[in-house]
Amino acid sequence: MKLLFLNPPHSPSSKLQSLFSFHPLFPPPNNHGPISSTHHKPTRWSPMASSAAAHHRLRRGAKVVVIMGATGCGKSRLSIDLASLFPSEVINSDKMQVYRGLDITTNKITPAERHGVPHHLLGSFDPDDGEMSPSLFRSLGHAAISGVASRGNLPLLVGGSNSFIHALLVERFDLETDVFGGLISPAGPELRYDCCFLWVDVSLPVLEDYLSKRVDDMLDAGMFEELAQYYDPGRTDPGGRTGLRKAIGVPEFDRYFKKHLPRRVGQGGDDWAREDAYEEAVREIKENTRLLARRQVGKILRLRSCGWELRRLDATEAFRLAVGGGGGGGRWRDVWEGQVVGPSVKIVNRFLQEK
Ligand code: ATP
Repeated sequence: MKLLFLNPPHSPSSKLQSLFSFHPLFPPPNNHGPISSTHHKPTRWSPMASSAAAHHRLRRGAKVVVIMGATGCGKSRLSIDLASLFPSEVINSDKMQVYRGLDITTNKITPAERHGVPHHLLGSFDPDDGEMSPSLFRSLGHAAISGVASRGNLPLLVGGSNSFIHALLVERFDLETDVFGGLISPAGPELRYDCCFLWVDVSLPVLEDYLSKRVDDMLDAGMFEELAQYYDPGRTDPGGRTGLRKAIGVPEFDRYFKKHLPRRVGQGGDDWAREDAYEEAVREIKENTRLLARRQVGKILRLRSCGWELRRLDATEAFRLAVGGGGGGGRWRDVWEGQVVGPSVKIVNRFLQEK
């Protein structure tokens, strides 16, 4: 259920535009305007005119906007909203979305939804090459941030994997430390970049409602068929715990496929056992997604309690309207803009003006 992407074309309202006070690093758009276009043109109003300026910024730690939040809370949507105002490129920090494949199951933002905003580390890692470790993500992420900043664009780090975000951002990364497990503080005050943290938060009961519907929509969009194709009965370690095979949906449906041919309930035959197994897999996916969201919020709170200055954006009302449907219709977008995008624009604007 990608409700938050349902309103084409993407164009921030004039209310939002008025919030946007232009900064020398991000001078005003040319006549084309940054907002009316649905295609991102990152170089059209270059925020750093010379590569010397970009190098200077890199040396003292590039400015990075980090969009955090539990699965499904609208991080991607917010990143595209911000990218329509600030010339930006997105660096994915969802540990399942870094892999190529299972686009529906891992809920990757689609090319159409990206509105031309360049995305990095999204579906670019071959799952057969093994598991993306936090330290590999740290070095690939650093290269991506450097590349974005050297092009004069704002790096937006977007994704729900807090261990990846932590590994990439901390000044000193210790491979051996279980940052969220032990008593050791996961977040020292020192970061490698000049970071602005936006935390999109949705109250858990409302988010869980949304996530349950999102799973139904993902199934309607072809998640089952995608997983059926991915399932390999000859695999020595079906449902194993490495890389992409950890994605929610894979182990749950592997158990189903082991007992039943990859045919969806209702596609011929009325096999009760099949139907029960299918419903069980869907129930497990919903439950595991719910647990993931709770764990992610726990990790975000931990980072905040250790000194990361997270700016919380409350998207609960927008989600309540979006999930409720009916009267919610177009209203959710106004609320989303008013309560999430608008405050984020102000925060990012201020952040970019800081020396
Ligand atoms: P952990 O330390 O538990 O791995 P993390 O913060 O590094 O947490 P998360 O993003 O919370 O990483 O992912 C934890 C697990 O949640 C993944 O191993 C996977 O099972 C599931 N998961 C995360 N993101 C997705 C996704 N986009 N699609 C499907 N499953 C996901």
